[in-house]
Amino acid sequence: MKPQIFMFVSAVLALAAIGLDAQVTSGQQPDRTITQAASSGMPTTDPDKMIAFDWIDAHSEAVNKLSLDIWDAAELSFREFKSSRALISFLESNGFSVEKGIGGMTTAFVASYGSGKPVIVLFGEYDALAGMSQKAQPIRESLLAGAPGHACGHNLIGASTAAAAASVAKIMHQRNIKGTLRFYGTPAEETGSGKDYMLGAGAFKDVDILLGWHPNDRTRVTFEYSKAVAEMHFKFTGVAAHASIAPYLGRSALHGVELMDSGVNFMREQLNEDARIHYVITKGGGSPNVIPPEAESWYFIRANKNKDVLDIFEWVSEIAKGAAMMTRTQVEINVDSDNHEVLPNRPLAETVDRNLHSVGAPKFNYGENTEARKMQEGMKGNFKFPFAPNIPVCSGPSQALSIHRCAPDSCLVRPVQAGGEFRLIPIGLLFPQSSSLAPRFRIPYSRRACDCA
Ligand SMILES: [Zn+2]
Repeated sequence: MKPQIFMFVSAVLALAAIGLDAQVTSGQQPDRTITQAASSGMPTTDPDKMIAFDWIDAHSEAVNKLSLDIWDAAELSFREFKSSRALISFLESNGFSVEKGIGGMTTAFVASYGSGKPVIVLFGEYDALAGMSQKAQPIRESLLAGAPGHACGHNLIGASTAAAAASVAKIMHQRNIKGTLRFYGTPAEETGSGKDYMLGAGAFKDVDILLGWHPNDRTRVTFEYSKAVAEMHFKFTGVAAHASIAPYLGRSALHGVELMDSGVNFMREQLNEDARIHYVITKGGGSPNVIPPEAESWYFIRANKNKDVLDIFEWVSEIAKGAAMMTRTQVEINVDSDNHEVLPNRPLAETVDRNLHSVGAPKFNYGENTEARKMQEGMKGNFKFPFAPNIPVCSGPSQALSIHRCAPDSCLVRPVQAGGEFRLIPIGLLFPQSSSLAPRFRIPYSRRACDCA
């Protein structure tokens, strides 16, 4: 939404890729003397990085438009048809060759520039969230009531990362730099995990470095682990009957779901503290006077280690089967995704951190601060802490450091300090092994209801 934020992110990602490229190919450290960035509109001294910054400045309007187009399209997981097409056309017009339909997914693609090693990948997400439809304005108002919308900024991720890729490709072209730069269009980050299908299709086999980012309320490089997460559906099937005339003839699938949820909730006491289980009932019957013949729940299981997720999943599955036995129903278990924990890489994180400091924090102008103040007005009721009377403006390279390491409270007021969070992920550690659940249960992409280009 805010042009400045993702132009800033483009600049840092571009810098990161340049720095990493230098590191991989020549062992040199990236230039640390840069003190200004394209996003600040001030000159820098490194000629290679200037190519990227100039490109980003010159194309800011097109990148803004790309972000707003994805915002307006607001498409759910696996249905990102317009969004992926917009990104593909942007990347093709900037010299990338695009392979579509990766992993059988209509909205997954790989855009490539250059050839040979190293292979550096910037990945972009562009799926929206259900029910979050919103006009591009600071006051809450849906474009279309109940429709999907971008709430955590995947429109920024897609557009900004594509801009970073295009700007680095420009450097590679002008400086005749060898290596492969790719943009991975990865669908379904919110639910369904499109990257799993891309992994299954071998898209990550030759990748040396994978860089991504996600909007956040602070500007920093993350060097931290994430939880492993698996999601699955439990579909109970019973027998329909009239709930008053002949309930004894029915077998309630909803009872199966309820007993399973109860069993899981009793199980929680025995779990390690890092474990998380959350669920919703996605189908519970149609009318109280009919014994529900079908009912379904949707679970997420998380833990710090994938191994623990698998152990919990086995236990939850036994509870589901127990609930089916108790209710004389059947249960079918479908695993939807199985993602390992992210393991960060320190040298990569430090490289991006240096580049982040070189670029500096985003600067917000008067108009942006005014818009942010309007946004705060509507959000006041939702937060217990008071908003600062003045919108903090953190700017300049040194402020980027302070935001990251010792942020004064005034610089952390939400949502004004929105800048972006960079995730540094070495590919070999991101996917230490193939999912062990997916081959056994995973819903094939072809069986998804949304497979409907
Ligand atoms: Zn998100």
